[in-house]
Amino acid sequence: MDRKKFLKLGTFAFAGIQGHSLLTTAEMPLVVATWESGLKVNSAAWKWLETGGRALDAVEAGARFIEDTIDCCVGLGGFPDRDGIVTLDACIMDENANCGAVAGLEQIKHPISVARKIMETTPHVLLVGQGAQQFALENGFSKEKPELSGDAASAYKKWLKKSKYEPVINIENKKQNGPFAPHFFEDGSLNHDTMGLLAIDLKGNLSGAVTTSGMAFKLHGRAGDSPIIGAGLFVDNEYGAATSSGMGEEVIRICGTHLVVEFLRQGLSPEMACKKAVERIVKRDPKKAKELQVGFLAINKQGVHGAFAIQPGFVYAVHNSKENKLFRAPSYF
Ligand code: ASP
Repeated sequence: MDRKKFLKLGTFAFAGIQGHSLLTTAEMPLVVATWESGLKVNSAAWKWLETGGRALDAVEAGARFIEDTIDCCVGLGGFPDRDGIVTLDACIMDENANCGAVAGLEQIKHPISVARKIMETTPHVLLVGQGAQQFALENGFSKEKPELSGDAASAYKKWLKKSKYEPVINIENKKQNGPFAPHFFEDGSLNHDTMGLLAIDLKGNLSGAVTTSGMAFKLHGRAGDSPIIGAGLFVDNEYGAATSSGMGEEVIRICGTHLVVEFLRQGLSPEMACKKAVERIVKRDPKKAKELQVGFLAINKQGVHGAFAIQPGFVYAVHNSKENKLFRAPSYF
C-alpha cells in the first residue's frame, strides 16, 4: 500500500469509529513499547499493523520477538529468581476487554502466546505455575531449557555472593550512565526491563501485551504487576491503554495501569495520566520512592502517546507511519 493511501486510511478509519468529523491528527496505526529494545519489538509488531492487521496480532508478534531474543529481562534468557529458576510472567488484552495471563511459567518460550491461548480458549484470565505449564503443554507448546543470557548469568553469580534480597536502584550509578541508561541494583548489576507494548490498528482498535522474567532474584513464586490486568496492562477501547515497568509491587498497590486509563477517561493527556499515577505512588511513601523506579506508558484513542516515571532513565519506542523512534519519559525526580 502506498504511504499516502495508508495515512488516509488510518485517519478515515478513526473518523468512522468515532462517528464525527475527520481528525487529521489521528495517529494510526501506531505501536509503542517500553525501553530501548522497544525499537526492535515495534518493528516486529509493525509488520502486522502496516498491512491492516489487528492490534492484538501486532502486540503478540512484538512480544514473541523479544521472547525469542536472548535478553536479560524477558523470556528464557531472563534473570532467574533467588533459587536460580527462570519464571516468566505475561498478559495480553484486546479491544473487547478479553484478557489472558500467565504467572510463574517455567520452561516455555512464549508465555505471551500461552496467555493468548488462555484468553481465547478458556473461561479464565490467569493461570499460574505448574497449572500454567500443564495447560501450555496440553496446547502444543513444548518444554525448553532456560538459557541464561550473559547479563543474567553474571548478575546472578554476583548477586549470589551476598544474596541480598532488597532490589535497590543505585541512583548515582544510573546518573553516570546517562539518561537512556537502564536502572541498576545497589551492587551495580542491572535491574529489570519488562517489555510492555500498546498498539492501535487501522480500524482504531487497541490492544496491549506484557512479557517479562519478572524482578531479578525475586522469591520463588513471586508475581509482579506484569501478569496482572489493571496493574501491568490495561486496555479500554473507548479511551486508551497503558502499561508499566519497574517495581511491580508498587504498581499493584495502586492498580497502576487501570488508574492511568481512568485518568485518560477523565480527559487527561497520556503523559499527564501517567504522571498522576506516578504521583500516587510517590505520595504513599516519598522516602521509599526515591529508591524506586516505576514507569508508565500510555496511548489514547487518538494515538497520542505519553509516559512518566519516578526516576530518569525510562525510555520508550514509538512506531508510526513515519518513523520508529525512542522517547525519553519525563520523571518525578
Ligand atoms: N515490573 C516487573 C515486575 O515487577 C519488573 C520490571 O519491569 O522491572 O516483575
